[in-house]
Amino acid sequence: MAFEGLTSKLQETFRKLKGKGKLSEKDVKDAMREVKLALLEADVNYKVVKDFINSVSARAVGQEVMESLTPGQHVIKIVNEELIALLGKSESKLIVSKVPPTIIMFVGLQGAGKTTMAGKLALHLKKHNKRPLLVACDIYRPAAIKQLQVLGAQIDVPVFSLGDKTNPVDIARAGIENGKRNGNDYVIIDTAGRLHIDEELMNELKNIKEAVNPNEILLVVDAMTGQDAVNVAEHFNGNLDITGVILTKLDGDTRGGAAISVNAVTGKPIKFVGTGEKLSDLEIFYPDRMASRILGMGDILSLIEKAQESIDEKKALDLQRKIMQQEYTLDDFLEQMQQMKKMGPLKDLLKMIPGFDASKLGDLDIDEKEMAHTEAIIKSMTKQERQNPSIINASRKKRIARGSGTSIQEVNKLLSGFEQARKMMKQFAGMQKGMKKGKFKF
Ligand code: GDP
Repeated sequence: MAFEGLTSKLQETFRKLKGKGKLSEKDVKDAMREVKLALLEADVNYKVVKDFINSVSARAVGQEVMESLTPGQHVIKIVNEELIALLGKSESKLIVSKVPPTIIMFVGLQGAGKTTMAGKLALHLKKHNKRPLLVACDIYRPAAIKQLQVLGAQIDVPVFSLGDKTNPVDIARAGIENGKRNGNDYVIIDTAGRLHIDEELMNELKNIKEAVNPNEILLVVDAMTGQDAVNVAEHFNGNLDITGVILTKLDGDTRGGAAISVNAVTGKPIKFVGTGEKLSDLEIFYPDRMASRILGMGDILSLIEKAQESIDEKKALDLQRKIMQQEYTLDDFLEQMQQMKKMGPLKDLLKMIPGFDASKLGDLDIDEKEMAHTEAIIKSMTKQERQNPSIINASRKKRIARGSGTSIQEVNKLLSGFEQARKMMKQFAGMQKGMKKGKFKF
């Protein structure tokens, strides 16, 4: 994930600050120098770093901090607040047209992730009960149209195309007409990119903009390109007056500088980020959550939201009832595991937890393998065995191990783990009942 180097450097600085009972002006200055270096190393734009350090310093040497009982934490709080401001203050929602359809035009260099992002956004809108249409205006890159059609088919979203012989401006116009006729409330136009910015491309994009008057012109920027991403953003913004930015590939080993600079340099909000190659790898950009991720304070809110998206609420309630009534079986255990899997790799989830040391994640993949084994073991059991594991004797264990391609030891381990979980739930259910009866007071 992006920002790893930056986060560990900042945390080191913060650790030193927190350890001090009183802060002198020199302490603050030293800390600011370290923050500055960390940001520059993370490839944040030089001017952005300078302004940032100036605003933090101005506040950090003030009376407020010096008189605070926890001056170190106070400085961290200021860094957090200023970082949020730098990233765009608050979430910036999509601009929606009063009269549908809302027209969203995607622009950016080739390979930035435009086409993929068009698919991701369409899926995101669909999940929110919208009816998006994708329009294929990239007639130059071989297979770009096909790529969009394949993505559309995967998520069951229509794709409008007139092949690669029609002018993109005409395709965009016809696409919107098509969307209107079919009751689509969002039309997403995927335009062509080039490997480098060129005038011809810019003119074509300007012509499309003029012809369809989009509600949003979203610039898709590859976060891996570092400083260059900022130049690209400035150039596109200067020519097209974009309405927002989407950063892709934040899952990669990027230093994260682009993410931190792009809003400050263009004055345009980051609306979404791409965090992987899968179509579900899209996140709404929340400056405050991103700031706490960068500062290593975790991202508990994103974690909660992810869980809510993946977990069926009815099922969760049902599960709660089962726990209360001690009816929790291996079937439920399996289902819970499958829901966990929907949330994405365990590694990614754990990284969002504050204070979690990402460097200790080395052998986590094994856990995922173990999860696959657990699943195979439970699936090799009969319904009766899942409902009542106490009937699983030695010969049944042998059969289950063979059926799941595992060993008797693994079956035993799962059964004792499950038994332990059930015991804990029993205690928990007891406590809950006690609380209801007013036995426990706080
Ligand atoms: P376009 O030329 O701008 O339309 O770019 P594409 O959508 O074809 O994407 C270029 C490459 O980047 C493809 O291999 C995508 O799978 C990959 N890609 C796009 N978004 C992401 C992302 O958020 N994370 C990662 N790791 N890869 C991405």
